[in-house]
Amino acid sequence: MDFTLPEEIEMLRKTVREFVEKRLLPISMQVEEEDKIPDEIVDEMKDMGFFGLPFPEEYDGVGMGELGYVVALEELGAANAAFGNLIGAHTGIAGMSIYLDGTPEQKQKYIPPMARGEMIGAFALTEPNAGSDAAAIETTARREGDKYILNGSKMWITNGPIANVIIVFAVTDKTLGARGGISAFIVENTFPGYRVGKVDKKMGLHGSYTSELIFEDCVVPAENLLGKPGLGFVTAMKALDMGRIGLAAGAVGAAQKALEMSIQWANQRVQFGKPIGEQQAIQWMLAEMATEIHAARLMTYHAAYKADRGERVSREAAMVKMFASEMACRVVDKAVQIHGGTGYMAEHPVERMYRDARILKIYEGTNEIQRLVIARDLLKAGK
Ligand SMILES: Cc1cc2nc3c(=O)[nH]c(=O)nc-3n(C[C@H](O)[C@H](O)[C@H](O)COP(=O)(O)OP(=O)(O)OC[C@H]3O[C@@H](n4cnc5c(N)ncnc54)[C@H](O)[C@@H]3O)c2cc1C
Repeated sequence: MDFTLPEEIEMLRKTVREFVEKRLLPISMQVEEEDKIPDEIVDEMKDMGFFGLPFPEEYDGVGMGELGYVVALEELGAANAAFGNLIGAHTGIAGMSIYLDGTPEQKQKYIPPMARGEMIGAFALTEPNAGSDAAAIETTARREGDKYILNGSKMWITNGPIANVIIVFAVTDKTLGARGGISAFIVENTFPGYRVGKVDKKMGLHGSYTSELIFEDCVVPAENLLGKPGLGFVTAMKALDMGRIGLAAGAVGAAQKALEMSIQWANQRVQFGKPIGEQQAIQWMLAEMATEIHAARLMTYHAAYKADRGERVSREAAMVKMFASEMACRVVDKAVQIHGGTGYMAEHPVERMYRDARILKIYEGTNEIQRLVIARDLLKAGK
């Protein structure tokens, strides 16, 4: 067993870390206040290959696989969560859906411009009446000659307002249910009948956009059916397995940053004549934070390593999504506690991190749903 990361991934980590320190951390507060990542920063992220990290070089990707992707997302997690969220929705679930189940023509058409960041991706599953119960979606797609006509709406779709390529899940045969009756489509934002609806205001994740997407007799060429007809739900679940590993990586990166800020504060803040870090109560919190981060990081790397070997990772992805997200919430809570009143003030990064972490237990499948996924797999496998 070798715990050493490949040299090229260590190099990638170093490059991303430098970029985060020089370019992203200094503007994290600006992104928070303006609710926008500056265009020039998005352009720099494109130039650095962030939009195509896991995809092979033949598709203009960086060829770093899932392991390289999660190491980069971990580093990005140290800055405002908006950066990792943009990449996670674009690469981790939208691009990944095409990469996993697209035809050679679809991959050739969409992945290179997505990897270059010329087209931004979104993944549209959730609807007003279908959140955790994603199989209950009501958006329909009916075939008419060489086209599909989509009708319905999606909600809370990350990158919705800025997406050019949207992976849309719709019912093609109501009688067949989730496995057989739901298909996936690659929808471009220029297709007739597609429009962006209400843009959401959120507790956190400022600088990352989510919105409603509306399909009114939206015309989609039949060749944009993604994967086999009726098997779109399988595509969604496979892409979400990968997305959940990326989400965990972002959680680890954010928690690590919160720990480092807490250590610094514990050494610097003096009460009762000595740094608070000399108090055992603070030391215990730091020790627990570091231990949980270590566990989540190893779980994340392991799940990514398995995914890169082409192994099934549904159980591991659910476990690491659940554990890392709850870990991050506990860690940022302790970070606020260690900072005292300073940590509650909006000018301090841990205040933002506390709000940003909360979503991790909800999206890409709530943690209650992750527990169901894990338990079902356990009961089926018997171990
Ligand atoms: C900021 C943000 C970004 C998002 N981005 C996207 C995106 O890009 N694409 C996309 O498709 N969706 C996206 N979503 C939607 C997200 O995936 C859903 O919010 C999530 O799946 C939960 O659905 P829900 O909110 O409808 O909660 P509900 O399903 O209504 O659940 C409410 C509560 O009931 C619990 N619950 C439900 N069913 C069960 C059960 N069987 N057993 C136990 N507990 C249960 C849930 O765990 C939760 O605690 C986003 C959401 C947010 C807030």
